[in-house]
Amino acid sequence: MLPIYKNVDSMKKAVTQIDEDFDKLASEAASCTVCPGMSGRSAVLSRLNGSLSASVLFIAEAPGRQGADRTRKPFYGDKSGENFERFLESVGLTRNEIFITNTVLCSPRSETGANRRPLASEIGNCRGFLRRMVALLNPGVVVTLGAVALDATRALEQHEIKLRSGVGMVHEWNRRLLVPLYHPSPQVIAATRDFKQQMGDFAAVGEAIRRIEREGVGRGCE
Ligand code: SF4
Repeated sequence: MLPIYKNVDSMKKAVTQIDEDFDKLASEAASCTVCPGMSGRSAVLSRLNGSLSASVLFIAEAPGRQGADRTRKPFYGDKSGENFERFLESVGLTRNEIFITNTVLCSPRSETGANRRPLASEIGNCRGFLRRMVALLNPGVVVTLGAVALDATRALEQHEIKLRSGVGMVHEWNRRLLVPLYHPSPQVIAATRDFKQQMGDFAAVGEAIRRIEREGVGRGCE
């Protein structure tokens, strides 16, 4: 959802500013070496993450070994990505209409090279990038994928939403709408929230979009 501009010139200026701010942010992230445990990894943040005019921002946990860290495109190239795309399609969304980022921009790995959960220190170190990404996109809808991402939004602006009780519901948060969902990984689908349940939860994303279109929440509406 784009803001309402006074004229074409002011719209072009604003779009250019967003482009410039994003390039600066992505460049800073690309050269960031703050986390010792991310040595050898690099931030997944580029135009491949989605549209800078998106009104829906998805926040996941971290780039996966077989997915985003390998392909440089979030939720692409692994089973989590396949699941995610099917959920996205179910609410009529395409990747061109959304932006996807992560709580930590680099891929956390164990000593054996497997995916691991990001450390609290890594989440804290990367919080500035997440905060700037939310401010830059100013989306009407934020969708978190998993508890780590939901906790990360709480650190940006306090809320009391819990994943177990608040999943698949539309919440008001930080002058926008927040939809908490489970992560679409095969592990979560097998152990915690199955495919059919997650498909049902995703309907709340469509509901949130219809609501911002009706009520005008988010970018340009502050
Ligand atoms: S996870 Fe974030 S803070 Fe840590 S090194 Fe990567 S970009 Fe920097």
